[in-house]
Amino acid sequence: MKVGITGGIGSGKSTVCRLFAQKGVAVYDSDAEAKRLMTSSEALRAGIVARFGAESYRGGELNRAWLADRVFRDDAARADLNALVHPAVMADFAAWAERQSGDYVILESAILFDAGLEGCVDRTVAVLAPLELRIERTCRRDGCDAEAVRRRIAAQLDDDALCARADFTLVNILEEELEPNVALLDRRFRHEAQHAGH
Ligand code: ATP
Repeated sequence: MKVGITGGIGSGKSTVCRLFAQKGVAVYDSDAEAKRLMTSSEALRAGIVARFGAESYRGGELNRAWLADRVFRDDAARADLNALVHPAVMADFAAWAERQSGDYVILESAILFDAGLEGCVDRTVAVLAPLELRIERTCRRDGCDAEAVRRRIAAQLDDDALCARADFTLVNILEEELEPNVALLDRRFRHEAQHAGH
């Protein structure tokens, strides 16, 4: 069984996934894996070079700043890049999931619903936290300014939309409250996986 965990910036997706990992659940970090695949996957590299040109790579490494600049203000270019990267990451996730032996696995993705990846998982969990707390956490972690965080939040699905689309929600305010709720969900997912023949 596959569980997708999503949430806006600073909501605590990684924190939640770490708690699941402590319970022995394998977690696929789609952001990190996308970055890895953009360099290591020959097919993906070829697709990116065909669409964006040889400048996409420099010395074998992804020319990240240049590519980010290309897609930043160009919706069509961004859609094209996503259409190359998302299928590659989901194929890699599916192959990775096959190799895992636990009752269920987790796909961590900030853009699970935005990118239409929810079809790749059996259950979805949205991590929610109050806006100001998310801004404060992100600024503390990244040292960036609050306005920049607000702009990034404005570009993501809001919590109402996440609540409407997710099967489960986890409210992440106090970490000591989060742990028992993660334990409840972990028990439920194990039970479902064992009884649904996944
Ligand atoms: P992003 O989308 O930016 O990757 P995220 O949703 O994965 O963020 P985390 O990285 O888990 O969020 O959390 C953001 C920051 O807030 C981290 O530094 C984390 O340690 C801290 N944090 C998360 N949850 C809590 C909590 N309940 N109490 C205190 N700090 C927290």
